[in-house]
Amino acid sequence: MRRDVYGPEHEAFRQTMREFIAREVTPSYPEWERAGRVPRSLYLGMGELGVFGIDVPEVYGGAGEFSPPYALVIEEESCRAGVILGAWSTHTHLVLPYLKAFATPEQMHRWMPGFMSGEMMTALAMTEPGTGSDVAGIRTSARLSEDGTHYVVNGAKTFITGGVQADRILTVCRTSPATEGDRRGGLTLLFIDTTSEGFSVSRALDKLGQHASDTGELSFVDVKVPVGDRVGEEGKAFGYLAINLVQERLGCAAGAYAQAAAAIGFALEYTRSRQAFGQPIASFQNTKFELAACSAEVEALQAMLDRATRLFETGELDAADAARLKLFATEVAGRVVDRCLQLHGGYGYMNEYPIARLYADTRVTRIYAGSNEIMKTIIAKSMGL
Ligand SMILES: Cc1cc2nc3c(=O)[nH]c(=O)nc-3n(C[C@H](O)[C@H](O)[C@H](O)COP(=O)(O)OP(=O)(O)OC[C@H]3O[C@@H](n4cnc5c(N)ncnc54)[C@H](O)[C@@H]3O)c2cc1C
Repeated sequence: MRRDVYGPEHEAFRQTMREFIAREVTPSYPEWERAGRVPRSLYLGMGELGVFGIDVPEVYGGAGEFSPPYALVIEEESCRAGVILGAWSTHTHLVLPYLKAFATPEQMHRWMPGFMSGEMMTALAMTEPGTGSDVAGIRTSARLSEDGTHYVVNGAKTFITGGVQADRILTVCRTSPATEGDRRGGLTLLFIDTTSEGFSVSRALDKLGQHASDTGELSFVDVKVPVGDRVGEEGKAFGYLAINLVQERLGCAAGAYAQAAAAIGFALEYTRSRQAFGQPIASFQNTKFELAACSAEVEALQAMLDRATRLFETGELDAADAARLKLFATEVAGRVVDRCLQLHGGYGYMNEYPIARLYADTRVTRIYAGSNEIMKTIIAKSMGL
């Protein structure tokens, strides 16, 4: 179906990204996967291209553009090339929305130059070893010093995308205990400098997929954080998280859509070239039917995603609709990637084939950005259940 989310500026950006990936990423990608991270030069290169400043207001030196269509272009181009660009989307689509909404002008002027150039990479730390879906269960504590100049942070976070390489981590801390009547109160956002004494990366985690995106387990022991690095008001973080999760889920759905669309491309190419019983695999009716069914699912997802992008642009995408989109997108991606892998036969199970990596990479989209079970609870609540 004809799409209306892209204009000529997005298509020009697509060409730039395609060339950048072919030149700067694809040749070194197997090495990055083995290392479990991308080199800093990738982020600096993306900074130079202007990727990290698309959404930053002009007053802070950014382009001040509406970024979701650009983000979708990056997802489409990286999936098409069978690569992951490290933790770029965490930086721009998880962390930046909080800074734009809740940081002060002084903080934005201080942080945005490094943010946009890629010299200051960021991560978002909510999840802890003891709590994930239940955000109100966060226990990492931040105690205000007696002279009121800084917080002292103690605790641990886990599964943090980009956490191993980040220079600053937007960390959800508990500044006052949860009470029986208000479990959600008392949470505060601190933008912690990872060179601070007492901060350490306890482990770079070994994952099923997404090998070129680092994921860290983090430790905080008496880390001193200046009060000037608090983002927003004390005790208000739960409400902030609820607002920004809409954009996080839109971004997650865009990634899942791009994975599903890329999987069909890989399967089309493979089944046309592979022969069995004297004919291309693509000529069997099963192959045609499988790919036709996948194509219909991806088209439906694309229509939903594009509609949600438009609604987000006008501020009308609500939490329940973002949950519906995230649920549908990631379930479609799971099914489509699996069916396309099947059409590759044994080669589909080999990591040298992009479909195998896609299979492992897409699995987590049903778990993070709020698990799909949590999406169902949000949707059910909106239905009065
Ligand atoms: C690769 C990766 C990257 C990640 N990146 C980040 C990051 O950058 N920052 C960050 O803060 N976190 C990150 N996470 C954490 C992720 O958001 C959590 O894993 C996710 O929210 C689920 O939390 P959990 O793992 O503690 O599972 P749990 O909350 O323990 O859930 C376990 C199971 O129980 C189900 N469940 C839980 N509650 C309910 C309920 N009320 N009703 C029905 N079922 C329920 C869940 O759906 C799941 O199936 C990442 C995770 C992964 C794997």
